[in-house]
Amino acid sequence: MEKPLAILFVTKTPMGANVRINLFMKQLDLTGLTQTELSEFVATLGEPVYRGRQLFHAIQGRRIRSFDGITDLPKAFRTELEEWATIATLTLESRYVSSDGTRRYLFKTRDNLPVETVFIPEERRDTICFSSQSGCPLQCTFCLTAQLGLLRNLSAGEIVEQIIVALNDAYVEGVKPPHGTNLVGMGAGEPFLNFDELMRAVRIMKEPRGLNIVPNRVTVSTAGIVPRIRELATIPDRPHLAVSLAAPNDDLRNELMPINKKWPLRELLSACKEFEKSLKPAERLTFEYVMLDSVNDSDEHARQLARLLNRHRLRAKVNLIPHNPAEPLPYQPSPPERVTAFRALLESKDIPVYIRRPRGRDILAACGQLAARTESGPALVEIAKTNAKRPLASRTHSAPHNPRVKSLDQNRD
Ligand code: SAH
Repeated sequence: MEKPLAILFVTKTPMGANVRINLFMKQLDLTGLTQTELSEFVATLGEPVYRGRQLFHAIQGRRIRSFDGITDLPKAFRTELEEWATIATLTLESRYVSSDGTRRYLFKTRDNLPVETVFIPEERRDTICFSSQSGCPLQCTFCLTAQLGLLRNLSAGEIVEQIIVALNDAYVEGVKPPHGTNLVGMGAGEPFLNFDELMRAVRIMKEPRGLNIVPNRVTVSTAGIVPRIRELATIPDRPHLAVSLAAPNDDLRNELMPINKKWPLRELLSACKEFEKSLKPAERLTFEYVMLDSVNDSDEHARQLARLLNRHRLRAKVNLIPHNPAEPLPYQPSPPERVTAFRALLESKDIPVYIRRPRGRDILAACGQLAARTESGPALVEIAKTNAKRPLASRTHSAPHNPRVKSLDQNRD
């Protein structure tokens, strides 16, 4: 991490007064710091340790996004914090609400790069799908994010901030969400190519005085970065693992997910087998399988997949994800009858299967559709730019042909 101590350099003016100089051009992002690190940071400003705890609770527990809003801190301290640090690095560019209630947020980082987050309301719990990178370096042919290439890894603070903003949008700053939150690391990017920042974010978010989202509520999806699968298995309080397969044999997987050339199926599945030892009694490993019409969805593909999983005797379930189409991806989703037949075949070989219901397709918020798109046409792009200057509550884009758009306030009942 950036060492808080290093940002302060104390010098004397000719008149003898102490002056502190910030050696970094950038203000330190406090959202990515643990409680202990915040206490160290406030100590460099000459403040007592408990101020660090107070700050942590304000940022993570109450989800306050400006120092001015932390009114229980002395005014002078808030002004000083303003000078050295920040707790809001992401700027909302646009916000889209789907006809199914799903929301997509497009943010810009301080260096002007896109970050996308999806909030999926569900009856008993909400799910937030966060991004781990801006863009993605992997070149999966069925995924829109791949078209951006890698822009950069996100910091732990930028990962945590996505959750804070999404919760504030749904439930108002400072208000405890009425029900639990599940997190899925299935937004833009490959989480296991940003492993350290991802795990730092997971540690920060589990704090009871903070967001209080335990790793057991977090699932991280990987395209198959084998060494990190093995590393995750060694972490005691770890998130759940999902592995994207997309093909049941190396030839097809090489084509659809070029990362397979580096870590082919045999190596990937033996790492999964190793990971299995770390599963809790009721826990299962998830394999995601995007279903592409006439590409990977035949009965023979289903049989190959069943053989592959059964050969390794893996305690796993399969999530079938009908392809979410987006221009210019050259695929179509498998027809529903094909998905059902594929499931039946796997089930006949004793493999548990779930079919993932697509959410937010109409606003390009579904799996594999995140590519910093600002909807169709220059008119909406223009709105997005204007919106950047407006308060959060007024920045809403509805999906085209969407009769049931809720405004932010309507969603707060
Ligand atoms: N890089 C990670 C996480 C991001 S993708 C990974 O590959 O797992 C999250 C899930 O969406 C993956 O299972 C991926 O295979 C799937 N996916 C990508 N593009 C898709 C698309 N267009 N339609 C449906 N699922 C897609």
